[in-house]
Amino acid sequence: MTSDRLVVDERALDAPTEDRFDRLRRISWWDQTRLSRAKVLVVGAGALGNEIVKNLALLGVGNLFVVDLDRVENSNLSRSVLFREADNGRPKAEVAARAAVDLYPTLRARGFAGNAVYDLGLGVFRWADVVLGGLDNREARLAINRSCWKVNRPWIDGAIEQIQGVARVFVPDGPCYECTMTSEDWELLQRRRSCNLLSQADMLSGRTPTTPTISSLIASLQCQEAVKLLHGLPTLAGRGWVFDGMSTEGYQVEYQRKTECYSHDPLERVVELPCRASRTSARELLRTAQELLGPEVELELARDVLERLCCPKCGTEETLFTSLGRVSADKAFCPCCPGVRRDVRTFYKIRGSEPFLDRPVAEIGVPPFDAVIARTLDRAVGLLLADDASEVLGPVVGG
Ligand SMILES: [Zn+2]
Ligand SMILES: [Zn+2]
Repeated sequence: MTSDRLVVDERALDAPTEDRFDRLRRISWWDQTRLSRAKVLVVGAGALGNEIVKNLALLGVGNLFVVDLDRVENSNLSRSVLFREADNGRPKAEVAARAAVDLYPTLRARGFAGNAVYDLGLGVFRWADVVLGGLDNREARLAINRSCWKVNRPWIDGAIEQIQGVARVFVPDGPCYECTMTSEDWELLQRRRSCNLLSQADMLSGRTPTTPTISSLIASLQCQEAVKLLHGLPTLAGRGWVFDGMSTEGYQVEYQRKTECYSHDPLERVVELPCRASRTSARELLRTAQELLGPEVELELARDVLERLCCPKCGTEETLFTSLGRVSADKAFCPCCPGVRRDVRTFYKIRGSEPFLDRPVAEIGVPPFDAVIARTLDRAVGLLLADDASEVLGPVVGG
């Protein structure tokens, strides 16, 4: 055993230290500097997210923000290259971010344990050069799509089921995710929302039957499209690539841009305010909005706020002021009347006469580093709570 091993080891020791990215740099158009400067937001650290994060680390992407609400479970281990048994119970986003730094120590990575729809501020989307989705539900896709459009960011969606999948690229001004939604998609989305607005448990499903083989295939394509986007090369923009693993056939789908699409709502600009969500009231933001756009301005929140629950039977009301997604399903039932579901009162606009104007916006469902929108009939400006940046972005804040 001695001689062979020793020879190999010595050769390895003698080998000149090669640049880590040598093989990538040999590609004629490759620009490693672009990748090391890139800021990528990955939403979802499940089967797809693991593969996405792994690829981005190997590619030498410099700044990574990973979002996921869940914790690692045993059933994730068959599809998640970044998770180990010892990680059980830990937040997926944090485990994935740390594993990415293990793969590429120069990488700056932030793992954010939160819900992509309710906890992720618009500032994070604006920070990113490109957004990659590893999601399993329409609600999160739609929320990401709308956020990306507001701040003109491209996003690359991936979806998998069993051994088939699709990767698609959405760029500002092209057809967006919402443009691709069919009436069946809307029906499923509405059903999910109405059964009733308060079913967070459904949102955390993640029980789609999939394999690590299809997740690596689709995630690879998403990352490769991201590399091309970051290089300014033509991509799959406005199209999707569908792969059927059973027949081993793949084909492209071209999407049409719909004129009547609610997602097409880019902000005219984003104003960075020296404010934090936990210390700034709606009244202060409204005043700033009026200075910018005049007295007719309204504030608009990105999420519906659950104002009150009212019992149709006994008439009692409970005031909550929290973002809808933070309320668990059992809250819907009246504590006095067994089995009676209460009516849900929500709002998302603030006009200036509301009784809660002096509460910090964090208490009406605005996450840190979010932007509240100042809107008039024909203008929309984002008011970014910019002083939350370092708390939310952590190690990638300067990236
Ligand atoms: Zn659209
Ligand atoms: Zn009641």
